[in-house]
Amino acid sequence: MRFASLSGRLHQVTAPGRVLDLHTASGGSLPADPQQAYARWSEVLDFAAGTGAADGDRAVSEESYENPVPTPRQVFAIGLNYADHAAESALAVPEHPPVFTKFVTSLTGPYGRIPVPQGEVDWEVELVVVIGARAHRVAAEDAWSHVAGLSVGQDLSERVLQLSGPAPQFSLGKSHPGFGPIGPVLVTPEELPDRDDLELGCLVNGEQMQQGRTRDMVFPVPELIARLSAVTPLLPGDVIFTGTPSGVGLGRKPARWLNPGDELRSYVHGIGEMRHQLVEGQ
Ligand code: ZN
Repeated sequence: MRFASLSGRLHQVTAPGRVLDLHTASGGSLPADPQQAYARWSEVLDFAAGTGAADGDRAVSEESYENPVPTPRQVFAIGLNYADHAAESALAVPEHPPVFTKFVTSLTGPYGRIPVPQGEVDWEVELVVVIGARAHRVAAEDAWSHVAGLSVGQDLSERVLQLSGPAPQFSLGKSHPGFGPIGPVLVTPEELPDRDDLELGCLVNGEQMQQGRTRDMVFPVPELIARLSAVTPLLPGDVIFTGTPSGVGLGRKPARWLNPGDELRSYVHGIGEMRHQLVEGQ
């Protein structure tokens, strides 16, 4: 099943470009707010499994889809989770996943404009995991049952601040407004041919910059959930940015950065594609 957020309300995508408002269709029993819906995800899935066009779905422009997980309580992001990206960063493949956050105000939707701040702004396409059931000390074998769905993310990064000082500033350097786009839809894992092997990539002005497969993660999704939840309970509606494959601007010779006027397209096959225009910052 596929879900999208429009006007801040959770919708089921019943067909390409057709959506069903789940709060309305359920007679008000399901929450309209996507974040509240993740706390009752099994009910959402049960209801969505029984819906049909007769329940009042409508045609919409897919460009109106918003971030399907706009206000998570916790955002986890993983560094160096693909060996080829660790190599281009001149860093060792980690024994433990490096974890940072993207502050919630950096999150934005799958389409639109992103201001470019001072510095060196880079792209990182990533698979995004959304939690659908509280996970604390969960074994990797049980981890997928705690996932509501998957989406596409960009972990935009301002490298000067990220890498400055004696202790790197990953969280701050990756949290400018608009630096955390998610979308265009949330897809339940069983909807995908192989939830553990998805192609992802991104293009700048039509030029392919990144192209990878999630099977090449150093710590696959179940292992990430096991390791994060060993320390911190994961809550319904929480987000995990799972790391990026090689091809970022920092790893190029010479290095390459995003500038106002650039177009950035980010995709995961089987989920969808986000499109953003980079514009002058304030
Ligand atoms: Zn990243």
